Amino acid sequence: MIIGVPKEIKTHENRVALLPGGVTEMKRNGHKVLLEKGAGNGSGFKDQQYIDAGATIIDDVEELWAKAEMIMKVKEPIKAEYSRMREGQIIFTYFHFAADRTLTEKVVDSNCVAIAYETVEKEDGSLPLLIPMSEVAGRMAAQEGAKYLEKATGGRGILMGGIPGVPPAKALVLGGGIVGVNSAKIAAGMGADTTIMDINMSRLRYLDDVMDKNVNTMFSSEANIKRLLPDVDLIIGAVLKPGAKAPHLITREMLKNMRPGTVLVDVAIDQGGCFETSKPTTHDDPIYVIDDVVHYCVANMPGAVPYTSTLGLTNVTLPYAVDLANKGWKKALNEDEELKMGLNIAEGKIVYKDVAAAFDMEY
Ligand code: NAD
Repeated sequence: MIIGVPKEIKTHENRVALLPGGVTEMKRNGHKVLLEKGAGNGSGFKDQQYIDAGATIIDDVEELWAKAEMIMKVKEPIKAEYSRMREGQIIFTYFHFAADRTLTEKVVDSNCVAIAYETVEKEDGSLPLLIPMSEVAGRMAAQEGAKYLEKATGGRGILMGGIPGVPPAKALVLGGGIVGVNSAKIAAGMGADTTIMDINMSRLRYLDDVMDKNVNTMFSSEANIKRLLPDVDLIIGAVLKPGAKAPHLITREMLKNMRPGTVLVDVAIDQGGCFETSKPTTHDDPIYVIDDVVHYCVANMPGAVPYTSTLGLTNVTLPYAVDLANKGWKKALNEDEELKMGLNIAEGKIVYKDVAAAFDMEY
């Protein structure tokens, strides 16, 4: 099969869908890889590394899309790419259709085969192609929180780990899922006195077993959150109610009970945010202050660390991509229930219920 890897053109997107090692793997399986010139640059991988691995570098992106039987991307196709999608072509990438009617209609009209990273699902309900990005965002949340606690950026001026004779910062993590556990690990690793709240008791029992000594667990309730507010330095929002907007666990009113310079990092901002005062920000301008409380609400946190994010993403996408290339999409999906869950739109029809439901479209 001919596999095409275009350069991502969405603003600030520096990840790439295939590494030179992935090219080697595709070649070993008898496939040909076309890479758009410079596609790996943003993540630190040069064209020469891809050439050495056996890829063909293509200057003209239209030619790449026209020749490729499978396109591997990171972000959903954007306007400039709509006309390039074509009948029968497999497109394997993050799509997030339910958030974008135009994209959904364009993909339907193109008659391509859209397999979405975000809906590939294991039997236990976990989403293997989303997990690495939650891991990145979670770990980054503690790191960014520590940075914005510094005085120069509006924070309280407290060091996460304290020093001998001076107590460490107090961190509260709302939600103990993938993002939450990774945030807590880094916050606690920096020495912060860390509390994780969740509403899932069996998750809290598990976290109580495995986390470091400086991580406490607490049931998530309004009363418990209010009790901790006057005393915490950093709050990380990491809740998820699948398919729903994030609940506002901290209201504007509650900001008054916090100390000036407290930092809120709302990782759940892509689901609307779990603080009432959250609004999406960008890596160029990541924070704003309301009632002396610093808010960090970047919606694509992994974009700041494309090297790590690209490696994390391609580690998990490559085996599925090789399978698609080896067997063709129909056979690959028939033989793999996880991958089958990734099929959203095929040959002009929406085949994923939630996508159709989002726009009242035919399913
Ligand atoms: P997850 O499903 O692994 O974990 C969510 C946790 O929230 C669960 O343990 C759940 O029990 C808990 N929860 C639900 N309601 C709660 C409540 N009221 N109080 C406390 N806990 C509650 O999800 P995840 O992978 O950790 O993702 C968390 C959020 O981070 C999602 O919205 C995800 O889209 C987002 N995310 C954002 C970025 C970014 O760049 N901003 C990157 C990756 C993920």
